[in-house]
Amino acid sequence: MKNLFSLAFILIFGWAFSQTDTAQVVVPNRKNTAASLTKPYVILISADGFRYDYAKKYNAKNILKLAEKGVSAKAMIPSYPSITGPNHYTMITGLFPSHTGFVDNYFYDKKRNDLFGMSMQSKISDGSWLGGTPLWSLAEQQGMLSASLFWVASNSDAGGTRPTYYYNYHEKFTADEKTNIVLNWLKLPEERRPHLITFYFPEVDKNGHLYGSESLEVQNAVQFVDDAIGKLIEKVNELQLPNVNFIFVSDHGMIDVDIEDTLEIPALLQDKNRFIINNSQTLLRITLKNESEVNQVYRELKKNKTRDYQVYLTEKFPRKLNYRTSDDRFGRIGQILLVPNAPKVFLEPGSKKTPGKHGYNPFKVPEMRATFVASGSAFQQGKTIGEFRNVNLYPMVAEILGLKITEPIDGKSCTAKKVLK
Ligand SMILES: [Zn+2]
Repeated sequence: MKNLFSLAFILIFGWAFSQTDTAQVVVPNRKNTAASLTKPYVILISADGFRYDYAKKYNAKNILKLAEKGVSAKAMIPSYPSITGPNHYTMITGLFPSHTGFVDNYFYDKKRNDLFGMSMQSKISDGSWLGGTPLWSLAEQQGMLSASLFWVASNSDAGGTRPTYYYNYHEKFTADEKTNIVLNWLKLPEERRPHLITFYFPEVDKNGHLYGSESLEVQNAVQFVDDAIGKLIEKVNELQLPNVNFIFVSDHGMIDVDIEDTLEIPALLQDKNRFIINNSQTLLRITLKNESEVNQVYRELKKNKTRDYQVYLTEKFPRKLNYRTSDDRFGRIGQILLVPNAPKVFLEPGSKKTPGKHGYNPFKVPEMRATFVASGSAFQQGKTIGEFRNVNLYPMVAEILGLKITEPIDGKSCTAKKVLK
């Protein structure tokens, strides 16, 4: 009897939990201001790990059609390090990762004496960890509703305000369910209809990691995303809303790495009393507990290094990557950086070997570069531009939506000038 009761308990509360877990969160009592009602709509879509050349390479016909009708870039250059959390958050704030504090998917914060991880719900939903004003926060503060069907930190109050409509991250929706959610938002009465919608696809990155960038699995994932986008565009166009814009981007690319001959983490760094190590395989960050040891440890690491990786003092890291100590507003990067030469990776004993990776310097490793394609009422038609840095996306979206940028950002408006009417 007791067991039966327990089972019933689990079934009922398990069901209730899974319902709330995947359910939409709606912030009550918000409405577009009269001025916002006449503003355009932006649907900002990110396909994780969709390399700059994938649309052509794998014949993503709907994305290519979008480019033909609108604008596309040769590539969008991710910010360093070219990984998911930092770059999604950089695109949505116009600030480099060192300036948002989102310096890695996982990082340690000295002042808090605590670890942040992109997949830790209690941390990623807590905006006090992150700097900058995400576009949804900017929109909401200026009386324009926004919605997020996932985007890194879109369930957080970073910048002060959550989107009016959002979800806590999960991967339980089918592509059709996701499309319907966006359509339902756009069918809401004008006053409650979001003008900025973010939309996210994880599939291309996942398959890229597991099977490598040349695999049939990645090709299929690209087709999956392309089909979903084709359907979304078709259905949204049927609504005949004025001034709709689609922007398709990715956070970074993908490269096939050397998993046969991997790099070992220098033995010296095993001492947990002296070092906090964050190894994303394509970048190894070292935080020394005793600041006075930095130069000595640096010299020792440099003396014993192999030619397959570089050792840097964060203080003197290449300026172009905006990842130096002087850029490190939240003091989270660490004092020494070990950077493998692509396609080498640092692999800890026992950790899983997967062929696809990203995270390298996007200026040196072209496979790290991301995609930018956009089309709609605000964009020019049939135009291709050169490469640009992903911090420039923020001023572009702000301009389309007529939002005033309220704090200094790293993004420049030169790209918006090239692609907008
Ligand atoms: Zn990613």
